[in-house]
Amino acid sequence: MTPAQSVVTEQTDAHWDAIIAGAGPAGALAARRLAAAGHRVLLVDRRRFPRDKTCGDALIPDAQACLARNDLLERVRALAWPVAGGEVHSPGRLRLEIDCPTLTVPRRLLDATLAAAAVEAGACFGVGAVEDVTDHGDEGVSFRVAGREAPLRARVGILATGAHVGLLERAGLLERQRASAVAIRCYLRSRHRIDQMVVSFDRSILPGYAWIFPVGDDGDGTWRYNVGCGVVLRAGDETGPQHALRAMLERFLREFPAARALVDGQVGREPTRGALLRTGLNGARPWAGGALLAVGEAIGATFPLTGEGIGKAMETAELASDAVALALSTRTLAPLAEYPRTLVRALQPRYLGYAVAERWVGRAWLADLVVRRALRRPHVRATLNDILHERADPQRVFSLRGLTRALVT
Ligand SMILES: Cc1cc2nc3c(=O)[nH]c(=O)nc-3n(C[C@H](O)[C@H](O)[C@H](O)COP(=O)(O)OP(=O)(O)OC[C@H]3O[C@@H](n4cnc5c(N)ncnc54)[C@H](O)[C@@H]3O)c2cc1C
Repeated sequence: MTPAQSVVTEQTDAHWDAIIAGAGPAGALAARRLAAAGHRVLLVDRRRFPRDKTCGDALIPDAQACLARNDLLERVRALAWPVAGGEVHSPGRLRLEIDCPTLTVPRRLLDATLAAAAVEAGACFGVGAVEDVTDHGDEGVSFRVAGREAPLRARVGILATGAHVGLLERAGLLERQRASAVAIRCYLRSRHRIDQMVVSFDRSILPGYAWIFPVGDDGDGTWRYNVGCGVVLRAGDETGPQHALRAMLERFLREFPAARALVDGQVGREPTRGALLRTGLNGARPWAGGALLAVGEAIGATFPLTGEGIGKAMETAELASDAVALALSTRTLAPLAEYPRTLVRALQPRYLGYAVAERWVGRAWLADLVVRRALRRPHVRATLNDILHERADPQRVFSLRGLTRALVT
């Protein structure tokens, strides 16, 4: 579904209740919720939709739950490829089955659908690159958009620009320039069929992993897959790993048995693309005390270790739009202060466990130990599943106490 959209020009209305920069899942959901609450919302993206976004295209349970809360799950499901479960391969090639019902949807479709849902709720979608933003506090915010001389004004602004954090820097919200991880992916068509999500913490890719996610059936005896790999970035290695990643992916495709089977039956492959990730719910402040908030990957809402971020980006948008709706209806910025607090209360603990897990999984022997334990102890495996479904705190396994419990019980 393509959202109705028009290029931002001198004729674009200058005054809004809320302007949201970035129409990925975070921006589009915030726009939908605020427009549905009766506010005048302008959603601006530098790209015309539908557009591609480099991603693994997987909607894990948190994303599905968020879509369901916002009455969007059924329309997304209609576009999606359902995958019942998955298998995780440890560095020592131990194989652990996981129960993680996932929907895969190419981001070109998902993001256009969410933006169209925002427009359907009453938001306007403008195409234009936001070049600058100024927070005037009680006087609102101003956005300078390419192709328009006078700034656009709004009572409240939301930055939802993903891993592109230039606007956060200009607004004084950025605390760390460096991204947390980098990943690449390609779409591959093959006569070989794989029904599971496959994740491999390959020794040659640590600290990181490679994946094979089924994304659809072409109906002619061929299936489509999103295949990729990503690594955690350490200080100083922003560019090196991007080159190394392509070699890692080719090696994974040559040497990992399931990937090799896909390549043996390959009938087509699209170019490999890469993007940065910002994880750990850190690296930027969500609010600086004025009329401007930031949501989604821009504030590091993507999970460490897994790199899953669509669900959490949308959850930050839910929290931010609740605070903004209250601020707009009460005509005071005070409710915005609640947003950073709820982020910490509702989400921060989950990220801590995943951050520990990411450090551990970087050590091959420790990753093998956890998987070996999960294979022998049904309760450890059940806890890992519960973590994926967000029914258990990741620290129940990924902490010293958790590991000790897993080893002795
Ligand atoms: C290779 C890879 C694989 C991944 N796989 C998965 C996965 O399988 N599942 C999952 O849940 N997550 C995955 N992620 C993470 C996921 O892509 C992000 O967490 C998610 O896209 C964040 O959503 P967002 O709305 O915050 O930002 P984005 O989706 O990045 O959207 C930001 C939007 O802002 C726009 N924008 C940027 N700057 C400007 C500007 N100045 N003016 C106007 N518009 C602007 C962009 O055009 C874009 O449309 C993956 C990431 C990568 C790189």
